Amino acid sequence: MIPLEEARELLLSACPVMETEHRALGASLGCVTAEPIVAREDVPPFLNSAMDGYAVRSADVAEAPTRLRVVDSVMAGDGRPVSIGEGEAVRIMTGAPLPDGADAVCMVERTTTGSDGQWVVIEDAVSAGNSLRRPGSDIAAGGEVVSIGTELTPAHLGVLARLGLESVPVHRPPTVGVLSTGDELRQGPAPLPRGAIRDGNRPMLIALIERAGYSTIDLGIVPDDAATLRKVFENAATECDAFVSSGGVSVGDLDVVRIVLSEMCGPSMHWMQIAIKPAKPLAFGVIDGRVPVFGLPGNPVSSMVSFELFARPALRRMGGHTEVVRPTLSAVTDVDLTRDADEKVHLLRVVAGVDGTGRLHVRPSGGQDSHQLRSLAEANALAILPDGPGARAGDEIGVLLLDGERLASSGS
Ligand code: AMP
Ligand code: MG
Repeated sequence: MIPLEEARELLLSACPVMETEHRALGASLGCVTAEPIVAREDVPPFLNSAMDGYAVRSADVAEAPTRLRVVDSVMAGDGRPVSIGEGEAVRIMTGAPLPDGADAVCMVERTTTGSDGQWVVIEDAVSAGNSLRRPGSDIAAGGEVVSIGTELTPAHLGVLARLGLESVPVHRPPTVGVLSTGDELRQGPAPLPRGAIRDGNRPMLIALIERAGYSTIDLGIVPDDAATLRKVFENAATECDAFVSSGGVSVGDLDVVRIVLSEMCGPSMHWMQIAIKPAKPLAFGVIDGRVPVFGLPGNPVSSMVSFELFARPALRRMGGHTEVVRPTLSAVTDVDLTRDADEKVHLLRVVAGVDGTGRLHVRPSGGQDSHQLRSLAEANALAILPDGPGARAGDEIGVLLLDGERLASSGS
C-alpha cells in the first residue's frame, strides 16, 4: 500500500496543464488566469462625486454656513461641460463628473436648499477633495489587476468588465468523459433481472465534475469486455481531455479498466493500492501522453471518495489551479469514532455543523460501509481518522468540508 499523498503526487505530476484560451468573460467564472491582466485604463475614468449634494469651491465655504448661488445640476452620465465660479454651486448626484472650478462636494444632508432651487446654504466647511472619487482610485491604468493563476470569482468578472474586457486568457477547463463499467449495471426504471443493479456512480460523478466547474461527456455503461472498453476510450479520446470511470479496478476476474489501461497507457499506467479506507484501489494512466484516465473503484462510496481525493485535485491541476486539494479543517467530534488499526487512513462520512461560538463539530451521518451511499448523501464532510484506535468524543480531528454551504447548526 502507498500513502495517500504519494499517490496524489504521482497523479498530479502526470496530468498536463491545459492550454490557454481567450474565453468570453461570461463563461469564465471559476477558470484560472493563464496570464497577468493589466488595466489599460483608469477606474473610475474621471473625477466624480461620491455623494448626492453640491459641488463647491472649498475656498467659498471656509466660513460656513455660507449661501451659494445654484447655477446647474448634473446627474450620473451627464457629459455636458459644466463649470462654477466664485460664490456658485452645482447640484450633483453620486457618480456625476465634478464641474470645472469645483474642488469638493458637500453632502446634501448638510445643506439647506432655497424653495426656488436658486440658492443653497452650505452648513459645514469642506476641504478640497471632500466626497470625491479620483480617477484610478479603484484601478490605476498600467497596473496588474488580476495576477496569473487566479481563480476568477464573480467580483473578478465585475472588475474585468469595468475595464472593458470581453474575453480573458484562462486555462481551458478540461472536458471529462464519464463511464461506468460492469456487466451488472442497468439504467432506468425497468425491473432488474437477478444479479443486476442500477448505475448510481455515473450521475454522481458527472455532477461532481460539473460542480468542480468542468463539462462532461456521458459515455454510458460499458460492459466488462476489454475490446469494447478500449473502443470507447479510443473513440472518445479526441473530444475528451480526461476520463473518469468507475469499477473494474480491483483484483476480480473482470477488472477490465486495469487491463485496458495497462494495454493503452504503457509505463504511465499505475495500479495502486492506497492506504485509505474506503477507496483503496485506483487505476491511473495517460492515453497518448495527453488524456489522463482516473479508474475509480466501483463501490459507490469508494468512487466518490476516490474522486474527491484524487480525480478532483488532478482535474483542478489540469485547469490551472495551484490550490488543488481541499484544506483540512479542525473539528470537534461529538461522539466516539472508534476504529481498528489497519495501516490505513479512514475517511468517515460526517455531518459538520457550527456551534454558537463558530466552532466546527462533526458526527457520523450513518452507516460507514463502502456500499452505503445514502449516508454520503446525508454527509457534508469527510472526517480523517489516521491509523490507530480512533478519536474520543471531544477530540479535535481533521475534516474535509465537501459542501460548505450545507453547514448545519450544531447544538453542542
Ligand atoms: P468493482 O470495482 O467493479 O469490482 O465493483 C465493486 C462493487 O461496486 C460491486 O458490488 C459493483 O456491483 C458495485 N458497482 C460497480 N459500479 C457501480 C455503479 N456504477 N453503481 C453502483 N454500484 C456499482
Ligand atoms: Mg465491476
